[in-house]
Amino acid sequence: MLLASGSTGNCALIEAGQGQDRVVLVLDCGIAQRTGRDLAADARLSLTSVDAVLLTHAHADHSANVVAVAGRAKAPLYAHPKVVDQRPQLRVSEIARRKVELRPYLSQRAFQVGPLTITPIPLPHDAEPTHGFIFESENGQRAAYFSDLGHPEVLMNGVLEGVESLVLEFNYDAEMLANGPYPPHLVQRISGGLGHLSNEQSAENLRQACPSSLRQLTLAHLSRHNNRPHLAAEAARAALNDAGRNDLEPKIAPPRGVVYAGPNPRPAH
Ligand SMILES: [Zn+2]
Ligand SMILES: [Zn+2]
Repeated sequence: MLLASGSTGNCALIEAGQGQDRVVLVLDCGIAQRTGRDLAADARLSLTSVDAVLLTHAHADHSANVVAVAGRAKAPLYAHPKVVDQRPQLRVSEIARRKVELRPYLSQRAFQVGPLTITPIPLPHDAEPTHGFIFESENGQRAAYFSDLGHPEVLMNGVLEGVESLVLEFNYDAEMLANGPYPPHLVQRISGGLGHLSNEQSAENLRQACPSSLRQLTLAHLSRHNNRPHLAAEAARAALNDAGRNDLEPKIAPPRGVVYAGPNPRPAH
C-alpha cells in the first residue's frame, strides 16, 4: 500500500505471505520518519517492525530516510550498489553508523525476501541507476511498482505480463507542464527521456501493454504543480477503455494518505 507519493516524498509498504511466512517491506522512504510512522499506523502497521527496506533510486524524495528506517527497524536495506554514497544519507559511513546491513541487488537479477521474489527492472531516469520492481508471491500473484521513468518503452516488452496490481507513475499533464510555473530547463528535464512519465505516456503504455491479469491500477507520483488527479484519472480511464478494460477504476495515490494497491481486499489480521 502507498503511504506517500509525489515529489514531496514517496513511501510504500508491501505485505506478503501469512503466518510464519508473512513479511512487510518498506519501499522507499522520502518522507519524515514521524510522518511515515503515523501513516503506517493508519494502515495498522508499524515501520519499526518491518522485515526489509527496498530502495528504487537515490533521489531524496525516495531515499531521504531509508537508512534511518532500516536502522530503527533493524532491517536489511536492499539497494543497488551504485546508489550508495550518492547522497549524504546513503553514505557507507551512515549505513555503518546505523548498523544497517546492506544487501545489494543487481538489475534483472531476482532475489528473495521471505515468500516474495523481487525482480529489479532498470528504468530510464536521471538518477542512475533507477529501478522499478516486479513482486511475485509463492502462489504466483504478481504486483509491479514503476515510478520515475522518462519513457515507457521498458514496460512494453512483456514486463507487465501476469501483473494483477500495478502502481504506475502518472507524473504530469503535458499542457500544464508546458504552460506552468517551471523554468524551461526543468520542463526539459521532466519531459525528457530521463525524466518522468506524462499522463498521456502512461496511458499509452496501458493501451498497448495493459495485461489481461490486471485487477488493480494505482496512479502514482502525480505532480502537485503540473497535474490534477482528475486529469490523470481521465487519461487512465480512456486508455483502459481502449484496452477493453472499463471494468477497472484507477485509484489515485495522494501526496500523503494510505492507498491500498493490492489485487485482493486486504485480509484482516
Ligand atoms: Zn521521485
Ligand atoms: Zn526520481
